[in-house]
Amino acid sequence: MSESLRRTKIIATLGPASNQADVLEELLRAGVNIVRLNFSHGTAEQHGSLAELARSLAAKLGREVGVLADLQGPKIRIEKFAEGKVQLSAGQTFDLICSESAPPGDVSAVGVSYLGLILDVHPGDTLLLDDGLIALRVDALEGDRIRTTVLTDGALSNRKGLNRLGGGLSLGALTDKDRADIITAAKIGADFLAVSFCRSAQDIHDARQLARDAGFDPAMVAKIERAEAIEALGEIIDASDAVMVARGDLGVEIGDAELPGLQKKIIRESLERNKVVITATQMLQSMVDNPIPTRAEVLDVANAVIDGTDAVMLSAESASGTYPIKAVESMTRICLGAERQFTFDTDFEAAPRNLERADQAIAMASMFLAEHIRVRAIIALTESGGTARYLSRFRSSVPIYSLSRHQWARRRMAMMRDVFPIAFDSRGLAPREAAREAVKQLYAHGLLAQGDKVLFTSGDSMELRGATNTLRLLEVGVDGIAQGVGDL
Ligand code: PGA
Ligand code: MN
Repeated sequence: MSESLRRTKIIATLGPASNQADVLEELLRAGVNIVRLNFSHGTAEQHGSLAELARSLAAKLGREVGVLADLQGPKIRIEKFAEGKVQLSAGQTFDLICSESAPPGDVSAVGVSYLGLILDVHPGDTLLLDDGLIALRVDALEGDRIRTTVLTDGALSNRKGLNRLGGGLSLGALTDKDRADIITAAKIGADFLAVSFCRSAQDIHDARQLARDAGFDPAMVAKIERAEAIEALGEIIDASDAVMVARGDLGVEIGDAELPGLQKKIIRESLERNKVVITATQMLQSMVDNPIPTRAEVLDVANAVIDGTDAVMLSAESASGTYPIKAVESMTRICLGAERQFTFDTDFEAAPRNLERADQAIAMASMFLAEHIRVRAIIALTESGGTARYLSRFRSSVPIYSLSRHQWARRRMAMMRDVFPIAFDSRGLAPREAAREAVKQLYAHGLLAQGDKVLFTSGDSMELRGATNTLRLLEVGVDGIAQGVGDL
């Protein structure tokens, strides 16, 4: 558990650069907590065997790894070119053909995957291709053609993504492919299901229902990457279990200069609404080709940690880059450094006052104590991970050891900052015995030492979700035997 000192969690996208057992094992050793299966690429069989491989390697290492299935969503793409790619020049005209019978593309025109695009765009709009590398200005709509002028020089190749600056494209969030992929994710038993390009809370509800219909109940991740999602941010966060600041597409839709402010806003609102938050995309982009990150990338990862993110994510760096292991090692190192700089949120003035649940109230009381007396750890006996989530919404200096008998709950908790999930079955133990047993176990792992004070939260009946109603303050005695605390 030596790397357990890192509190920010790392998500690594798997792909051709990381699908070998030896590389994947190194990635896990280097600190990956969650593997992301990107359903924009690969087959159902490939995703299934990768998830299985990751889990068996994690079991070998005595760790928990969560599996995140990321749906492609309604990403609009151009179709293919006769020659694979073309070179566009600023000032030339270029047509987008919204027809199923569009011929293979050339330097004057190419088909698009979403035929309704022509109904959504207007002369004067800016369309961005390939994550904004190429910009087109819409001049006119003629028949099934969107006539544009190219604004930037550049090469354009097959199937690149297309966005409208400012958002507002009418495509729904879940495609037929996504529906099929949800069934694949159910077979895999993914712990997390990410909804790409969601616009509203309803999109999340719909995806959650489809998942339940397919026979699983994953934590739902809302990817914030459309302008409309910013307008509906609060309701989307409330509908989800976790939120992703999906900076790639979001930057294209709203303009990159808006990203820093939005990243901070999305992280803050997610924490306030008791949800987990991921910061994603291009965090160590130059490491696709280089073994060390740029200073700007170091600062970017660190700033996300300082903003309060639960997890940071690697995309191409770990999926298709040349240095996947070094990218994870860099992230681990940068997170640890940033965590030392982090100023803890001891300002309980900002904490929610309208406490709705007993476990939430106990969590808040625990964090208040944790910041005002010197405790070494918080130990949370938790059924579903709810208490751990409430505890970890306060960014504190104290690690949270979350003990659960459910592997699915421990895998979900693998995404929460400051939380270290541990397998523990408290059935048959009275709460006081469970506390002693838990302290003994953590002492045996070397996570606690004699004289440490710890906070312990539990419920009278641990088999119930949300039943936490008790907070104990204990001191670790000789041989890890928990005892009462006298003076603080
Ligand atoms: P993607 O989502 O990698 O699936 O595009 C993340 C993002 O857009 O930032
Ligand atoms: Mn995206």
